Amino acid sequence: MQTAEIRRRFLEHFEKRGHTVVPSASLVSPDPSLLFTVAGMVPFIPYLTGREPAPYPRATSVQKCVRTLDIEEVGKTTRHGTFFQMNGNFSFGDYFKAEAIQFAWELVTGSVEDGGLGLAADRIWPTVYLDDDEAFEAWQAYVPAERIQRRGKDDNYWSTGAAGPAGPCSEIHYDRGPEYGPDGGPEGDPTGDRFLEIWNLVFMQYERGDGEGKEFPILGELPRKNIDTGMGLERVAFLLQGVDNMYEIDEVAPVLRRAAELAGVTYGADHEADVRLRVVADHVRSGLMLMGDGVTPGNEGRGYILRRLLRRAVRAMRLLGVEDPALPVLLPVSRDAMSPSYPDLATDFERISAVAYAEEDAFRRTLVAGTALLDTAVGQLKSSGTPQLSGAQAFQLHDTYGFPIDLTLEMAAEQGVSVDEAGFRALMAEQRDRARADARAKRSGGVDVSRFSELLAQHGPTDWRAYETLRTESR
Ligand code: ATP
Ligand code: MG
Ligand code: MG
Ligand code: MG
Repeated sequence: MQTAEIRRRFLEHFEKRGHTVVPSASLVSPDPSLLFTVAGMVPFIPYLTGREPAPYPRATSVQKCVRTLDIEEVGKTTRHGTFFQMNGNFSFGDYFKAEAIQFAWELVTGSVEDGGLGLAADRIWPTVYLDDDEAFEAWQAYVPAERIQRRGKDDNYWSTGAAGPAGPCSEIHYDRGPEYGPDGGPEGDPTGDRFLEIWNLVFMQYERGDGEGKEFPILGELPRKNIDTGMGLERVAFLLQGVDNMYEIDEVAPVLRRAAELAGVTYGADHEADVRLRVVADHVRSGLMLMGDGVTPGNEGRGYILRRLLRRAVRAMRLLGVEDPALPVLLPVSRDAMSPSYPDLATDFERISAVAYAEEDAFRRTLVAGTALLDTAVGQLKSSGTPQLSGAQAFQLHDTYGFPIDLTLEMAAEQGVSVDEAGFRALMAEQRDRARADARAKRSGGVDVSRFSELLAQHGPTDWRAYETLRTESR
């Protein structure tokens, strides 16, 4: 089943059950505390927290998401993309656990002829939170008790990380079979590749108080309980398309295949090359989607993430032996795979591609000089017996040559050299403070406000990474 068809079925299923279909919000998060939209619930935060009345009691969406937190997993696990789409259904003080479980079950196991996804019922393994008997019982209407596992806070409890709504989750896993790992359900699967998590149902049930990490007091039940769910569209697609992982589905594989062709390698023949091809396919698509939503490469914030993705893709192609510009070949392939569902990518492609190709050109120009600098430094380090690149050297590579730190780390590691990352981060922080102080000095008419910028550096603005865990806290 094509990804677009799964998307359509999901929305139709929930529309039939009284949900208002809401279009995807931008990847640039509508919530100012987040850099990117990391989950389907992000556009609904005002309704879920009760800050604003919801304009509808039930909603459904297919939300574009970016999770940079997962970047290191890409290509190595079967299931983590930096960009992915989260199908969701939401109840704002309307239905609760039993219906949320029923709706999910009907879609996942419903027959293909009747609009369902047709996954085998006897391969579904739900998990519930330790003491969530209500969810356990609701699941027992569909699944025998021995396939329902209870899990602790790390996996099955959701909260925003601060006082506010919180509650247990129930995750739906699909057993891909013994060739993917040991028996024992999600609880006994260390990699998560056999019992694949496809859907997370969050029951916003409690009001929590302040606390550290997962330790916080529960103040009571919420007066209006909400449902927030997220199903990984790509994960369901790779199950239904009979392929091994999310990089091989219809919306991603064409880039992977084209990259392999360019490199003259056979996908599936060599593990290291396969990982690189999957990274390329993932990053090219994420870059395309981010540029489609107006993000441009830069040295900070969103722009820096985009730069990192594009440069990692280009670098992976070079490691595969491709010296010529890669994006002019790969980006149109990704556009063609994605534009049936996101037509703006096609109409806006001239702008998007100009941004991407300029970034690759800039990177290619500095890559040669930067690589030479890195090689010289590494050579000197090795002969002097100190196998660590200094923070200052890593900073110069970043500042002068636009080497994202993970690129420096990767290239240094390939040569058996470590990097003083803490030193690098300290220099980055200094540079940021200087820039802030400069900006403030300008605004304040030249008065020295550096003492205030020190305060700001100590107390805020909050690191956006903390908010990336908003939804991913229960992992
Ligand atoms: P995992 O444990 O596999 O990392 P998660 O628990 O972090 O997933 P949730 O925060 O519960 O994921 O998100 C809801 C759903 O979104 C997941 O059940 C999964 O299907 C999908 N999903 C999450 N992260 C990714 C990703 N990086 N790429 C593709 N799909 C994802
Ligand atoms: Mg989850
Ligand atoms: Mg998880
Ligand atoms: Mg995760």
